[in-house]
Amino acid sequence: MRYIEPHGHMVSRTTDDYEAMVLAGCQAVCEPAFWAGFDRTSADGFRDYFRQITEYEPARAAKFLLPHFSWLCINPKEAEDLALAADVVALIPEFLAKPNVLGIGEIGLNRNTRNELKVLEWHIDVAVKHDQLILVHTPHLEDKLKGTQLIVDVLKSHPGVKPGRVIIDHVEEHTITRVLDHGFWAGITLYPDSKSSPPRAVDMVEITGGERLWLNSACDWGVSDPLAVPKAALEMRRRGYSADWIDRMLYRNPLQFLSQCPKFRLGEASAG
Ligand SMILES: [Zn+2]
Repeated sequence: MRYIEPHGHMVSRTTDDYEAMVLAGCQAVCEPAFWAGFDRTSADGFRDYFRQITEYEPARAAKFLLPHFSWLCINPKEAEDLALAADVVALIPEFLAKPNVLGIGEIGLNRNTRNELKVLEWHIDVAVKHDQLILVHTPHLEDKLKGTQLIVDVLKSHPGVKPGRVIIDHVEEHTITRVLDHGFWAGITLYPDSKSSPPRAVDMVEITGGERLWLNSACDWGVSDPLAVPKAALEMRRRGYSADWIDRMLYRNPLQFLSQCPKFRLGEASAG
C-alpha cells in the first residue's frame, strides 16, 4: 500500500520511525509547526525551529528517500504572548519561499482565548496575502466544539479565505460535519489513547462519505504512533474495503488537497 502522512511532528521522532514509515508505504510526510514540548522564550527560538523544519528535517527524511514538507506559524499553545506572537508572525514571510513549505499551520485555538483569536486572524491575513494553504488545529484540552465554531466563524468572515484551501484538523464525531458543511477539508488525528482511534476514524469516514477528509498520526513528542495511518488501513481491510478505496482515503485524498500547493511534488526527495 501507499499513503501520505499529512501531519507528523518528525522533529520528535527517531530514524527508526522514519524507516518504519517508509517500509509501511509512506510516500511523503508533512510537518506543521507546533509546540516543541516546551515554551520558546524568543522569536529567535522560532527562527531556529523554522530552519529545522525547512532545512534540516527534510535532509534527515531524505536519507530514507522520504519527501518532507512543512507548514509555518506560531502555534496557539504559545500565542498568548502577543508581543512574541507578532515577532514570530513577522518572521514567516522570509521562509515562505523555501522549497518544502506548503502553507500556514497549524494555527488555531488551544484555550479559546481572546489573544489566541487575534493571532489566528494575523495568520489568516498572512496566508491570504501570500496565497498560502491553511492548516488549522482545533483544541482538545478545552471545549473543542466551541473552539471549532469560533475558528469556522473567523475563517468564514475573512473575504480572502477559500474553504477548499483550508483543512481543519483533529475533528471528532461532534465537530466533523460543522467543518465539512462549510466546504473546508477535515483531518482526523489518530492517537493510541486520545483524540481518535482507528475504528472511530473509520466510523467517521463511513458516516460522512470520505470526501475532503484525511487521516494523520500527528506522531509528536507525547504518546503517539507514527504508524497509526497504516494501522487505520488495516482496520479498513478488516471491514472489507477495497485496496482502491483505502488508496483514495490515505493517498489520493491528501494528495488532492496538498497538490493545491505547486511545491507538493512526489517521486523525489524535496530539496532542503
Ligand atoms: Zn500537530
